[in-house]
Amino acid sequence: MSDCLFCKIIAGEIPSTKIYDDEYVYAFADIDPQAPFHAVIVPKTHITSAAEINSDNSIYIAKIFEAVAKIAENEKLEKGFRVVNNCGEDGGQTVGHLHFHLLARRYLQWPPG
Ligand code: AMP
Ligand code: ZN
Repeated sequence: MSDCLFCKIIAGEIPSTKIYDDEYVYAFADIDPQAPFHAVIVPKTHITSAAEINSDNSIYIAKIFEAVAKIAENEKLEKGFRVVNNCGEDGGQTVGHLHFHLLARRYLQWPPG
């Protein structure tokens, strides 16, 4: 998608701070962090939101959660972390490329509000 912010970040057309990278997944530092550690994890293919996941593209979800575990180990997040997906208008999604937030290094309240 030529006009997609996260596709441009994946392509290196917009700079980002890399946290993790493999064949399926890219993770980078959130520009407006909501916790001392805040990564944005995206599939390296354009999927608009969690509402678009199906049996043809769900491999990316498995790969994203494999990346979560690797990042948690690399970053020593042994106290825990939270993975968040915002989907659609009421879910608070502001960028139309599927992404998961990985938040850590502070106590995260529940419910989030
Ligand atoms: P969401 O609100 O769930 O759609 O999350 C989008 C996230 O992308 C927000 O946390 C933003 O701070 C983050 N974001 C937007 N632009 C950039 C950027 N250029 N680099 C890194 N993170 C960004
Ligand atoms: Zn995209």
